[in-house]
Amino acid sequence: MPSTTLASLTTLRLGGPAEHALTISSPADWADAVRAIGQRDDQAPVVLGHGSNVIASDAGHPGTVVVMNTEGITATRVDDTTVDVTVQAGQPLTDLTAWAAAEQLAGIECLAGIPGTTGAAPVQNAGAYGQQISDTLDHLTVWDWEMNCMRTLPAEACRLRHRDSRFKNNPGRWTILTVTFHLIRSAAAPVAYQPLADELSVPVGTRPPVAEVTAAVLANRHRRGLLLDPHGPDARQAGSVFLNSPVTVTQADHWSAAGCPVHTDSDGQLRASAGWLLEHSGYRPGNKIADGIRCSDRRALTLTAHDGATATGFAQALTELSAQVEIATGIKLRPEPMLVGAWA
Ligand SMILES: Cc1cc2nc3c(=O)[nH]c(=O)nc-3n(C[C@H](O)[C@H](O)[C@H](O)COP(=O)(O)OP(=O)(O)OC[C@H]3O[C@@H](n4cnc5c(N)ncnc54)[C@H](O)[C@@H]3O)c2cc1C
Repeated sequence: MPSTTLASLTTLRLGGPAEHALTISSPADWADAVRAIGQRDDQAPVVLGHGSNVIASDAGHPGTVVVMNTEGITATRVDDTTVDVTVQAGQPLTDLTAWAAAEQLAGIECLAGIPGTTGAAPVQNAGAYGQQISDTLDHLTVWDWEMNCMRTLPAEACRLRHRDSRFKNNPGRWTILTVTFHLIRSAAAPVAYQPLADELSVPVGTRPPVAEVTAAVLANRHRRGLLLDPHGPDARQAGSVFLNSPVTVTQADHWSAAGCPVHTDSDGQLRASAGWLLEHSGYRPGNKIADGIRCSDRRALTLTAHDGATATGFAQALTELSAQVEIATGIKLRPEPMLVGAWA
């Protein structure tokens, strides 16, 4: 198990040494990996997919980092219209949505263009354009590092909520090995999000073909700077740095009147746009935030790393931005990327 740096495994390209790194390329490698980690470490490994939603510590990780690189999509017909699709954890989510579009399988089309692996997507119940993993997740297979065994977790056991799950709240306990979705051979789910309806030139509630919605989502994400271009000026980023904030009805009324987009999520919670709140508090696209850390030229909510950036500086920048927004608006922003590695 050779050493490596967390920087080389994350899209922010920040983070210190990992004592050992292990890439899992085939499901058949898993048993050997568990044995090797058990003999060497006294803690569960840090597990990464593409490292697109993490801030990895400058101090690195004094144990094993496992990179999930397993690929494979297996479809099992349930009935004339329903298909169970089991996906290996390392399969890029974008490949899965492209495959589903080609197969005319509905339920995950709005997740097109979200960077990262399918195995990481349940961790924060990844979602976009009114759709999220919990809409179609049937079950997961996981390795439980506490019980030292493989388990099947039905979707209900995963406690998937808005950008949240039991995995996010107990990092290290479970490694997701496969994800099974319940998809329907039909037109896409009803378009729920106005910008997507505008992109498709249809009213909200319309059900265009899956491939059309997938293409429209990708076009809309491209226009809004929401695709990860590893060679572009915003290559070193972890996506939106704050989640849209839960607000009370009074706050929603107040900030809507001021121009802030506020929407009701599928859980019934009102949420205010974190990007709008950030800009309202004085942070604009292109602003320098700290040494080596700037708001993207495309959107304030994406912070990009440059020469001189550190993970500590990046995390401090989020604390500072959140505090400034709370002073300006009374609303607390919660960071979206997860801290991994050894943080004080
Ligand atoms: C440009 C850009 C746009 C984005 N847009 C969206 C969006 O629209 N919606 C959205 O929800 N997210 C978005 N994200 C965030 C990110 O893409 C998702 O959270 C994605 O699911 C992360 O996948 P990953 O493989 O990179 O995970 P990583 O960053 O490698 O890991 C994320 C977390 O999951 C854990 N983890 C990873 N794999 C496993 C596994 N197999 N088992 C257990 N734990 C695991 C890690 O330990 C870490 O805590 C965006 C990010 C970027 C850079």
